Amino acid sequence: MALLRIRTYPDAVLKQRAHPVQSVDASLRKLIDDMAETMYNAPGIGLAANQVGDLRRVIVLDLQRPEIQQGLIALVNPVIIHAEGRTKYEEGCLSVPGYYAKVKRYEKVRVKGLNPDGKEIIIDADGLLAIVLQHEIDHLDGYLFVDRLGPVARELFLRRWKKNRMEGEGEVAG
Ligand code: ZN
Repeated sequence: MALLRIRTYPDAVLKQRAHPVQSVDASLRKLIDDMAETMYNAPGIGLAANQVGDLRRVIVLDLQRPEIQQGLIALVNPVIIHAEGRTKYEEGCLSVPGYYAKVKRYEKVRVKGLNPDGKEIIIDADGLLAIVLQHEIDHLDGYLFVDRLGPVARELFLRRWKKNRMEGEGEVAG
């Protein structure tokens, strides 16, 4: 396994739409293994392939809450097939270090995708799992959580980001 470099805003690859995976093969499983290692090392609770500069539709996540015992989830070509309810959750992102903001999301989602063996699986998620799934699938469509903020919060983010950049801060966040 290998650690991959995590791309950060405003890297152009984060704005690109990832492509559906045609076959789940050894090269894809290596990407999944490397993404999982990179996520745990960061540390983070989710990672999409765009974030490591790869445009295949792959996400990995692990809430890392012992009480949930969810473990590692890797999904290929994930699609939200049902969504309901509304919620707001404070999100951060390994690609937008040092910035957190409340984002509007669905409360519950049903997501369909392939597991690393190429078998179709369906996940019914609520709570944090539903949030992370929506956040990671957004990455595959070229969206960051800061793209989902209202105009005021977005302006605040842009100003803060420019300021941090000028001060040369190297903040680290989840
Ligand atoms: Zn993210």
